[in-house]
Amino acid sequence: MMNNTIFKAEQALYLHLLQVSRYHPKAGEWLSCLPIWLAKIKDKSRYAHAPFYASAIDRLPETTALAIRLTDRVEAVLDWQVSDFKKTHSLLKNLKPWRKGPFYLSGGAEKSIHIDTEWRSDFKWERVRPHLQLQGKRVLDVGGGSGYHGFRMLGDGAKSVIVIDPSCLFYHQFMAMKHFLGVDLPVHYIPVPLESLPKDSELFDVVFSMGVLYHRISPFEHLEQLKAQLNKGGTLVLETLVVDGDEHTVLVPHERYAQMNNVYFLPSVAALTKWLLKAGFSEVSCVDVSITSTDEQRATEWMDYHSLVDFLDDADNSKTIEGYPAPKRATMIAKRP
Ligand code: SAH
Repeated sequence: MMNNTIFKAEQALYLHLLQVSRYHPKAGEWLSCLPIWLAKIKDKSRYAHAPFYASAIDRLPETTALAIRLTDRVEAVLDWQVSDFKKTHSLLKNLKPWRKGPFYLSGGAEKSIHIDTEWRSDFKWERVRPHLQLQGKRVLDVGGGSGYHGFRMLGDGAKSVIVIDPSCLFYHQFMAMKHFLGVDLPVHYIPVPLESLPKDSELFDVVFSMGVLYHRISPFEHLEQLKAQLNKGGTLVLETLVVDGDEHTVLVPHERYAQMNNVYFLPSVAALTKWLLKAGFSEVSCVDVSITSTDEQRATEWMDYHSLVDFLDDADNSKTIEGYPAPKRATMIAKRP
């Protein structure tokens, strides 16, 4: 017996966009792209693992959550048999590495699954949420990973959330969690990069880009594309790696940064503020700066590769192994005028 989770989630996404299109004609453009976007993620010439991941989702046992908690660990309370628990545990292990979470499937003693992800994404959310008002808002989370923050946004009152991220693995991790939390929840996922979205959508009250900007070869294009998704008067939440320095300081790592080979621009907070103003945002403020700790990012049973501790200089933890300043992240808030 196969569940229909991915199909149902796709259906819910169509319906959601259809509803939005009654008031926002631009959502019609999204609707016309949707068949292509959703077909691409199933194309194994593009994503070799897609059929394997999808079949893991298809085989998850049918169960209805007795309750859900969209708080620190995003949790579904389940009434299930040992056999369901065992099957789910092994299917979820097929979706490793789990990087963004934590998630919890609570089925009582010896029947609960704690997906202890590499990142304690709840730490980031605790730094960001005090500065936001999400009640009743329509939200876009760009580069939303497994959708952990998307579920938290809903928990904090958002009316609806669309997560976008081009990662095939993260897409399926999201589907696995949505399977247990409820396919009808108004958190949707489109597996595309920001650049693929229709321009000038102006569909969202709040747009998040967390942990994405430094991966972009062209940060100004990224800022423009974020702005184009926001309503006038809407709020951007931008979280990214920063370095110390004045408005002229930007680090461009020569090769790798903390072992990541796709890192381009790490500005100071002062430089980033200027960038946001230049990109046409207003009311720019920095609400948090934090050094990433090895409690926040570490290897676990669900992500058993190297993690932050291996990317820092053994003798001096204030430096990466390449000799750059260790990861420090800023959260910026700005408005689209
Ligand atoms: N937002 C989450 C995850 C950050 S990891 C958090 O803050 O914890 C960065 C994510 O950005 C990855 O999942 C990656 O797939 C995604 N990403 C990279 N380039 C992107 C792009 N152009 N558009 C949207 N997402 C992108």
